[in-house]
Amino acid sequence: MDFIPVNEPLLNGNEKKYLCECIDTGWISSEGPFVKEFENKMSATVNRKYGIAVSNGTAALEVAAQALGIQKGDEVIMPAFTIISCAMAVTKLGAVPVLVDSSLDTWNMNVDEIEAKITSRTKAIMIVHIYGLPVDAEPILALAEKYNLKIIEDAAEMHGQTYKGKCCGSFGDISTFSFYPNKHITTGEGGMIVTDDEELAERCRMLRNLCFRKDFRYMHDEISDNYRFTNLQAAVGLAQLERLEEFVERKRTMGSYYTEKLRKIEGVTLPVEKTEYAENIYWVYGLLLKEDMQADNREVQKLLAEEGIGSRTFFWCIHEQPVYRNMGLFLDETYPNAEYLARKGFYIPSGLALTTEQMDEVVRKLTKVMELLNRRK
Ligand SMILES: *Cc1c(COP(=O)(O)O)cnc(C)c1O
Repeated sequence: MDFIPVNEPLLNGNEKKYLCECIDTGWISSEGPFVKEFENKMSATVNRKYGIAVSNGTAALEVAAQALGIQKGDEVIMPAFTIISCAMAVTKLGAVPVLVDSSLDTWNMNVDEIEAKITSRTKAIMIVHIYGLPVDAEPILALAEKYNLKIIEDAAEMHGQTYKGKCCGSFGDISTFSFYPNKHITTGEGGMIVTDDEELAERCRMLRNLCFRKDFRYMHDEISDNYRFTNLQAAVGLAQLERLEEFVERKRTMGSYYTEKLRKIEGVTLPVEKTEYAENIYWVYGLLLKEDMQADNREVQKLLAEEGIGSRTFFWCIHEQPVYRNMGLFLDETYPNAEYLARKGFYIPSGLALTTEQMDEVVRKLTKVMELLNRRK
């Protein structure tokens, strides 16, 4: 069997048809009609009033943070275990990420640790749903209310997921999505900010487009970037969005299939199937090496690659990023669970185009690799 990549998207719906429409009509830039349509449809799927499409999920976080007025000296509470995009959105503005450790079962931030981190400088809390299970958002929303804090919800991995029956992407002041090819909905590269606040939406639209003055184009009162989203991206996004339910269903089926086949495997912990507020959508199918294993995730990744199986290690923790350490940030801080996830977590092929035969092959090869590692104990 050929090498099985960690992700391959499924593009066999109306993607080609809508893309051809872009070519035929000449609408390929961010001014094209599909952009607005995609913004409207995507925001509607999560019950938000406004959608602002941008070039990627990282840009969405940056624009969201800037639109909320986060600035130099502010603190933003977020998980220690997340992608660097979350921290970058804050540090680029001169603000400081204040980190919270993870819980080892859901891999999401430990909500009980948040309140102790709130200071007079805290401006916002970033909720980041990790790998398929949503964060327990209600207590965080209550804290935001109590201390008058803003909420940014990073729902990049949560297309089609709900928390207590409410759509992920609908919590707090502003939420963001990514449409990278490994997300449930892809546009190649792409992202979106969604909000119910008209003024915030207007600010995001300005920030994604160089802050052109409304009454005087080419005159600028503020600096921002070019984070525009093209009609070509929107064409793919519209076709993908038509299949959101089917995709979520498929991911859940794939997750259950892996769990069924891997139930007896030794030395690794499988992902939690559901919590009291949500059923896993397996953005990726992640596994954690058990504590007594004499191996880390990088070695597993290497061994799997030798067997023809693509995999990825989990995110590296924010407080252990060399770039931040060099800036003097987080020097004496330690978050043991986040550190454990970063060293022992990995995920196996989980893309929507994966076939059952490929999953069987992944299971066979992972079993072989784990048998080898278990013999070391
Ligand atoms: C993918 C992802 C992002 C970044 O999205 P890009 O489109 O790759 O910039 C941000 N946050 C989370 C949680 C993600 O999974």
